Amino acid sequence: MAGAGTVAGAGSGPGAEVPAVQLDHVVRRFNDRPALDDISLTLGRGEIVGLIGRSGAGKSTLIRCLNGLDRPQAGRVVIDGTDISTLSEQALNPVRRRIGMIFQHFNLLSAKTVAENVALPLKIAGVARAARMKRVMELLDLVGLADKANAYPAQLSGGQKQRIGIARALAPEPLLLLSDEATSALDPETTQQILTLLKDVNRQLGLTILMITHEMEVVRQIAHRVLVLDAGRIVEEGPVAKVLASPQTDTTRSLLRGLSPVLPADLLAQIAPEGDQALIRVDVYGPDARRPLLAGVEAITGQPARLLHGGLNDVQGEPYGRLFLALGTADKDKLAAVVAKLKPETTAIEVLGYVPANV
Ligand code: ADP
Repeated sequence: MAGAGTVAGAGSGPGAEVPAVQLDHVVRRFNDRPALDDISLTLGRGEIVGLIGRSGAGKSTLIRCLNGLDRPQAGRVVIDGTDISTLSEQALNPVRRRIGMIFQHFNLLSAKTVAENVALPLKIAGVARAARMKRVMELLDLVGLADKANAYPAQLSGGQKQRIGIARALAPEPLLLLSDEATSALDPETTQQILTLLKDVNRQLGLTILMITHEMEVVRQIAHRVLVLDAGRIVEEGPVAKVLASPQTDTTRSLLRGLSPVLPADLLAQIAPEGDQALIRVDVYGPDARRPLLAGVEAITGQPARLLHGGLNDVQGEPYGRLFLALGTADKDKLAAVVAKLKPETTAIEVLGYVPANV
């Protein structure tokens, strides 16, 4: 794929690995309003990255710039070392074939059988019939639907249709799989099965996956890393457990609603600027989440700390959590000492105010 679009020096040098995708300062405006406003990101090979954002954030525009259906006015879109932002339509085709896509509404051809749907990208790429059929059967096996080769999409459930969509996307052995709200039309159990399949495919094939979704739960279950898009900008990014433990922006907090514990209204109503006991919020993630935090607090205050709300959760084996602790004292010096002690051991800590002793 060398040529005019190849980025000089990308991945050169011993052991250097060319990222699957790299965006450098990408700008796409519509009528002078930026839909993508200086986006830079890198997707490493074999990574599963969640891209989350509300409607209108710029997710579809980003997808179109990634698969070459749209071109940015500024910046570079580099796929496997090739800058596609300047390629001709014809030069784009081989790069496009390296990008598989799955969609919310599956986009299967209803007049074609399952096998014909999966075979389509191979047919377009000029793969001979016998080789095509062999590959189709391997792919149907991979997605657990070998017995449906001759069925038509209308005879399949939503989950089965998406499995076929995945098989079709994998047919040309892509480098990158773009998943555009691929589980948004599925029930929770089917969503789970599709996410498990995608995780398996990621592990078995080392495929890079970009999961575009408005559902943080999907990201929690599958992604290694999350990017939060808002009004065309990436406003937050990091390991999923870290972002879940301690979201830094209002956009992320609102997307996380329901996944991150918030104080119940009755407790919230009792927080005042003065009171019997300080109330702190502690966000923890990773190995720090299981440290003996409470014993350290008690050693400073001389009082047992009480967990009023919150707890630990888990992202793919990595703990994260948010704890609301009443410290058993209102002493300002002790409070400052607790904050100083916990700060390096936690992701975030905030003094929320004071609550009555009997809260
Ligand atoms: P999302 O997929 O996150 O819902 P989009 O990428 O569809 O967001 O849209 C981002 C912004 O760009 C929106 O304000 C939208 O109105 C605008 N936009 C997207 N496509 C076009 C277009 N073809 N013409 C004009 N405005 C567009």
